[in-house]
Formats: sequence, structure tokens, C-alpha cells
Amino acid sequence: MPNQKKIAFNTLGCKLNFAESSDLARKFAAKGYLQTGFHDFADVYVVNTCSVTQIAEKKCRNAIRQASHLNPNAVIAVIGCFAQLRPEQIADIEGVDIILGNEDKGRLIEIVENYNKGSLSPCEAKTALISDIGKAESTSVSFSSDDRTRCFVKVQDGCNYYCSYCTIPFARGRSRSARVAEVVDVVKKVAAEGKKEVVLTGINIGTFGQNNGETFFDLIKTLDECSPIERLRISSIEPNLLSEPMIDFIAQSRAFLPHFHIPLQAGSDVILRAMRRKYDTALFKQRLQYIYSKMPHAFVAADVITGFPGETEEEFAAAKSYIEGLESLSALHVFTYSERPNTFAATLTDKVPHQVRKQRSLILQEISQTKKQQFYLCNRGSQRKVLWEDDNDEGFMFGFTDNYIRVCKPYDAASANRIEDVMLQNLNMERLCFVLGE
Ligand code: SF4
Repeated sequence: MPNQKKIAFNTLGCKLNFAESSDLARKFAAKGYLQTGFHDFADVYVVNTCSVTQIAEKKCRNAIRQASHLNPNAVIAVIGCFAQLRPEQIADIEGVDIILGNEDKGRLIEIVENYNKGSLSPCEAKTALISDIGKAESTSVSFSSDDRTRCFVKVQDGCNYYCSYCTIPFARGRSRSARVAEVVDVVKKVAAEGKKEVVLTGINIGTFGQNNGETFFDLIKTLDECSPIERLRISSIEPNLLSEPMIDFIAQSRAFLPHFHIPLQAGSDVILRAMRRKYDTALFKQRLQYIYSKMPHAFVAADVITGFPGETEEEFAAAKSYIEGLESLSALHVFTYSERPNTFAATLTDKVPHQVRKQRSLILQEISQTKKQQFYLCNRGSQRKVLWEDDNDEGFMFGFTDNYIRVCKPYDAASANRIEDVMLQNLNMERLCFVLGE
């Protein structure tokens, strides 16, 4: 189509951002925009930002500069968490035209359509809308659309927990959810498009429904019963919100898979209290043991932060030994603590030197690697179901089993987006992947 406008997205951060960017991309496509890659020439560039770490902020600045360089006449819009928290810093970056906070990003199309860059004087040439996110009362269901096999569906937004290191409640507001019925409709639509797997995402998904009298347990029971999707995963759930009845349900469910992602954050009760987390190490361990008793084959990963203020050598050594002792933990996602402005933790004085934080991260990453290898070894010789992705990666295709084991085989177009039984036999330890057909 001649003169068709081009739009490019650069999405940083969590799966929620990706689902929300996909929603916006679909709306722009309905208005006739053609989506291009962020490294290509476009008329509109959208940077959907994250503010969880300093690295995320740096990536955001780089993306804005890159867009400005690719087309100095393009409209550049910055949306998302960094925009919500630091609009004045973004406004100082050359080339930025539109800055929208999390509650305002739904208005992006309307604002872009009415924005005429050339006609504005330099002092008018920025539109910033940052509503008070604390007043946000609802959220809609968003879903990602860049993958033929798997889809991330955002069902909940915001968080009321105010952990001492975290800016998310300031950037995303209080916990609020879509209705169960809305989520079911979206999952049915996604299944009708041919996708086989849905990953339910949210900021604090276990608090789903707190604003409307429903519960996360209601959601998973209804989805399991009423939606035709073949596989369902839960992106991440707080240990205090993953109840035993919920674990029992997942263990015998039709579609929910034996795969859990549970934030631990610290392997020390002293640090967990300083982080203002809502559980202790005993509860975390008990949840893992319960999962193991019901689903011994389940993959369980945990987030951990290293170098939080007050994490002495002794605290770290005790935490390391606690984590090593969690036998049914399959992997860790390790984050190095970074001070975030306006958080309580940033005011704490007993800071850990940056070099020490990084060293501790490396130590925990090694433990994670060992745990993952052990998990793979324990599964050798078992038969599982794998969902094959449709990318042809130098003659190979990849997929994940129900319990999140990576499998590969020579590319076969007929297997793409199909669920097949496989025997896990030939383990490539270096790539940590079972290889079929060799
Ligand atoms: S639970 Fe804690 S870490 Fe997670 S989003 Fe809420 S405040 Fe942040």
C-alpha cells in the first residue's frame, strides 16, 4: 500500500509489557499501520519501558537514541513503567515526542494520529500524560501475538505488597484484574487462532480478583474446565499465595502443567523481613516439598536477589546453603540488587559493595546450573509431551516438555506447533537439551 505508515516497537522488561505492546500493535494495524523491526526505518517508534533495574533504564535510553538516529522526523513515543516514574528524565532525552504513563498508554493511537511533529514549536513538541496510577481501578486482558505456539495473557495488573526494594507498585498501581469470564473469552480466541499454550501473567497474579470478589483459584478452575486450550502455565506466583488446594488441583488438572515459578528473593529470614516479604524460608521450603509430594516431576524455578543491604558474608553463606538444600528446586533466576529511587531499601545504610553483589550472583548462577543439570538427569529415560515451536534454527527445531525440559530435533515442518510424545534419552549437557533423532 503506497504511503502506508510504519510503526516499530521496542519492548523492554516483563511479559506484561510484551502483551500490552502486542495489543497496541494490533490496534495500530487495524488503523492501517505496517509493523516493522525496531532497527528499520519507521514513522512511529514506540519504546515500552521497564524500570525494575538500572540496566533496564539504560536500555530504554539507548532505544530512544537509536530511533531518533534512524529517522529524526519520526514520532517517538515512550510508554510504560519508566515513563510513569521518571517522565521528566525522559523529556530531557532529545527526540522524544510523546510520554505516556501506564494508565494512559491506551490512548497512544489517538495521540499519535493527532500529533503533527513538523507543525509544533520546540516548546510544544512533547505530549506527556502521566495520570495518578494509584487511582487506576481496572485492567483489561492483553495477549501477546508474536509466537504461533505460545501466548502470554495478562490477567492482572498492579501490586499492594510494597516490598521494600520494588518500584512496581508505584509504576503499576494497586492490584486489579479482569473478570474470569473475560479471560476465558480471550483464551478461547487464542485457542481458535491455533495456539496450543497460554501462559497466565500478571504482576502479582495470586492476588487476582481482589478488586471484584473473584480469586485466582476461581480463574484456574474455570480455565481448566471451560477453555479449549491444550496447555496452561502460570508465569509466577508468590509462595504465600500458592495454596495446597491449588497445588492439589494443578496436580490433577487437564491443562495446567507441572511447572512453577515462585519468587524466593532471599534464602535468609533476616533479609526476607528487611525486604518486607510475606513469608519465611520455612514456608517456602514447605511449599516446595508439597509440590514434590504431588508432582515429583515438576520443574520449579525461583527468583533470588543477591547483595540486598544487610546481606553479610554469614547471611549469604547461610542463604547459599539453604538454597543448595532445596532438593526439589530445579533452577534459579538470579538478580543483582540495585537501588531504586524512592524505595525504602534505598535508604538502608548497610550496603553491600557492587563487586560483592556480582560475585554472589555468579555463585548462585553456578548453583542454578547444577540444579538444572540434576533435574535434566533425573528426567532421562522418561517419556513426556513436547510442544514443538515452528522456528527453523539452522536445521533444528526446539520445544519444551510439559515440565519445561528443552528438547530439540532436526527440523520437520509437520511437527511445528504440535504436541508429541517423546522419549528423553540423549542429553546434551553443554546446551542442556535432550536431542532426538541422533
Ligand atoms: S510482590 Fe513485591 S516484588 Fe512483586 S511486584 Fe509486588 S512489591 Fe514488587
